[in-house]
Amino acid sequence: MALLRTFVVAALLATLAVPAAAGAAQRAPKPTRASAPSPLAAATNAAARYWGAVPCNGHVKVVARQPLAKGADPTTDAWVTFDSSLGANNLAAPAGSYSNCTISFGSFRWPTASSMSEDWELLCTTMVHEVGHLLGHAHDLTPGSVMAPVFTDRSSVPSVCRAAARARAAGRASAR
Ligand SMILES: [Zn+2]
Repeated sequence: MALLRTFVVAALLATLAVPAAAGAAQRAPKPTRASAPSPLAAATNAAARYWGAVPCNGHVKVVARQPLAKGADPTTDAWVTFDSSLGANNLAAPAGSYSNCTISFGSFRWPTASSMSEDWELLCTTMVHEVGHLLGHAHDLTPGSVMAPVFTDRSSVPSVCRAAARARAAGRASAR
């Protein structure tokens, strides 16, 4: 099984001051939040943009708050499982043969839905990493690579995740 572990990276949460409107007449209509994608859906979109491809013929199950497999490192954040022409979870098989693909996010790093929003940049980076596995990419020890087995700082956060994180933060501020 391909596993990703990450060290703690502090979430950067910008506190945005919103000035009070001078008068009710100038107040803009309040944007609805219903159209904002969920943290996992937004991360899935970012991963598709990053790779320019969708794995497993578009059939990927993404599940959150999963218990770890027995024997897995307790700090594991996320992992992938899939069938392939060379058997279960074998990255040596051609990615085109992958099926029954699942990306699991463990309860260790993201125990709640709000924790996924608050730590979204790392969630997004992890999603890009796991989708990379489902596209056949193995771990890459190059510093800053999104396929690094362990993220030690924010250098691995892809620009698609940084940009989307800014957009999500701006959406939260304007929705107040
Ligand atoms: Zn990995």
